[in-house]
Amino acid sequence: MLDIRFIRENKELLQLTAERKRLAVPLDDLLRTDEERKRLLAEAEALRHERNRLSEQIPLLMRAGSREEADALKMESKRVGEMLAALEPQLEKLESRCKELMLLVPNIVSPDTPIGASDADNVEVKRVGTPPGFDFEARDHIALGESLGLIDIARGVKVAGSRNYYLLGAGLHLHRAVQQLAVDLLAKKGFTVMEVPLLVREETLVGAGFFPGGRDQTFELPADDKWLVGTSEASLASYYAGEIVDVSQPIRLAAVSNCFRREIGSAGRDVHGLYRVHQFAKVEQVILCRGEADESEQMLQDITQNAEELLGLLELPYRVVAVCTGDMGQKNYKQFDIETWMPSRGSYGETHSSSNVHDFQARRLGIRYRDADGKLRFCHTLNNTAVASPRILIPLLENHQREDGSIHIPPALRPYMYGMDSIRPGG
Ligand code: AMP
Repeated sequence: MLDIRFIRENKELLQLTAERKRLAVPLDDLLRTDEERKRLLAEAEALRHERNRLSEQIPLLMRAGSREEADALKMESKRVGEMLAALEPQLEKLESRCKELMLLVPNIVSPDTPIGASDADNVEVKRVGTPPGFDFEARDHIALGESLGLIDIARGVKVAGSRNYYLLGAGLHLHRAVQQLAVDLLAKKGFTVMEVPLLVREETLVGAGFFPGGRDQTFELPADDKWLVGTSEASLASYYAGEIVDVSQPIRLAAVSNCFRREIGSAGRDVHGLYRVHQFAKVEQVILCRGEADESEQMLQDITQNAEELLGLLELPYRVVAVCTGDMGQKNYKQFDIETWMPSRGSYGETHSSSNVHDFQARRLGIRYRDADGKLRFCHTLNNTAVASPRILIPLLENHQREDGSIHIPPALRPYMYGMDSIRPGG
């Protein structure tokens, strides 16, 4: 959420940002409602002031024996009170409408964010590693996973419907190994690693900036008035909601969790295999730091680097892209995606998303700190995937396959894989 004063003063910029982010934002409606709210607020203030003035005069008149005048002022005070009472519900209505509309206004974007309509307009920043050239007929992760007994998609669909799967044996070990490798790496880097609530209140998702925009993507449990998170970012970012925090050193939080997504609007897209599923696991990094643009930019570089370090340990070729306006979330100020080489797609596929949100999320969540002058300010917040599985199993299985049907396990994963250096047909 942006400051209402900033919205009032930057209507054109925000209109342009909304168009570039491909969002419909009722800015005129918001500014009109805000004007009306300000007008009624001033009216209510004036009435309150008048009522106070009258109530101070009444006892003076009584003491002076001017009973008739005092009675007239009492009547006047009652009339002012009634006018105020009539105004208050109108004011409350306008205030809540303003809040509702403000939630729809997108964050502005950094000056170096590429302008574009879709992911096709994202700009490559760097490429690391070389996609493998196979001198045998390479197989995709489904064929590899099924032949090695790691993945069972058919039974996943039988039991839970489309976009579901089972992971078995070494498939499960690999899934857990990448997560534990990420958790250990982040813990070593000073992150507080956490188990977090996954069934959360609606206000948590509003505060973290996922609602109202992402309501249709989120599984709801109406009987309990709760929602299943699509990412632990919501729970991590909300950890300090409503609090004043010490960010003299950036606060680094990480969670390992399941994530649940309805994937509405993806019908027919990525229907095969493990790319786009309803339930997956993710190790997420969240940072809270001072509301200083250079500090949060440095944090963005750091959390992106953490993910790159992991991909290095997994021996996977990847590229980093600067995400363009049209492919960016409503709350993001600047975003990089990391795309890992997926041989079966013949292209890089998104595996990580790294975002600087500036104070957009902290303002909604009410997370502040005291700056050097003791003034309360909103933090900047950032988030990035450390690893998301099973999507990362696609490049892991496909890039590391060998002609004999086995899969090479990178040394960094072996301690989490009972020492296995490869997954072989027949166990
Ligand atoms: P996001 O939280 O949307 O930025 O996504 C972070 C990462 O989670 C993506 O880069 C993917 O690796 C993974 N991911 C997101 N959605 C899905 C999904 N439906 N199925 C599998 N993995 C996903």
